[in-house]
Amino acid sequence: MDLDFTEDELHRYSRHILLKEVGAIGQARLRAARVLVVGAGGLGSPLALYLAAAGVGTIGLVDHDRLELSNLQRQIAHSTARIGQNKTDSAAVAMTAINPETRLELHTRRMDAVAARELIPQYDLVCDGTDNFPTRFLLGDACHLLGKPLVSAAVLRFEGQLSLFRAHEGAPHPCHRCLNPEIPPEGMIPSCSEAGVLGVVVGVMGTLQATEVLKLILGIGEGMSGRLLLWDALDARFRTVKLRRDPDCALCGEHATIHDLSAYDA
Ligand SMILES: [Zn+2]
Repeated sequence: MDLDFTEDELHRYSRHILLKEVGAIGQARLRAARVLVVGAGGLGSPLALYLAAAGVGTIGLVDHDRLELSNLQRQIAHSTARIGQNKTDSAAVAMTAINPETRLELHTRRMDAVAARELIPQYDLVCDGTDNFPTRFLLGDACHLLGKPLVSAAVLRFEGQLSLFRAHEGAPHPCHRCLNPEIPPEGMIPSCSEAGVLGVVVGVMGTLQATEVLKLILGIGEGMSGRLLLWDALDARFRTVKLRRDPDCALCGEHATIHDLSAYDA
């Protein structure tokens, strides 16, 4: 690993390097890392900004949407002046402003099965910052099949949840389908655009996601695999529940029936 840092880098990352759990080696690990952030919205904003600030060397960002006025209540990587721009381009402006050393790979396209097969293998790990079940399931299945850890967060109204899936490494790690076996029927669980969300709740969950990404790259702390963190902002209470690997899971079970992404090609 390249441990050469410029004076500027030593300065910029001095508060990281001071931590014995990070140090120069950890900072070099961050610089060598390649992270794919899917969604440049509410979760993706703090994720992308903190990962760039932290010195993650290469960040891929996938989003096909354009910035709208109603996004700005929570999507803090963007700005009023950039309404109408691609979210990838708009987020890149903010990320580069924080850290021009971070290499950005902007993928202004829909995250579909073709994009999943093409993009996911190019990165060390993936963060799910999307807001709909079909894309969440696609990412969960794709990361499992392609052998990449997935840091996943979700939000609604005043609540958030977070976990890490790395079931491709085998038992006892559960996969996303051990938690939710099937995509819920449309309309059963409302989206943020239907039910609303307190903007800051998305920011907290995206920031927690960034924390788990950094821990994963650095190889420090307790990972979130096998645990689901639940936060209720109104109660001001966090709790963690155990997730168990389901031996009959269609994705990671002994008799798995999902072996590719063909179900998403339709
Ligand atoms: Zn499973």
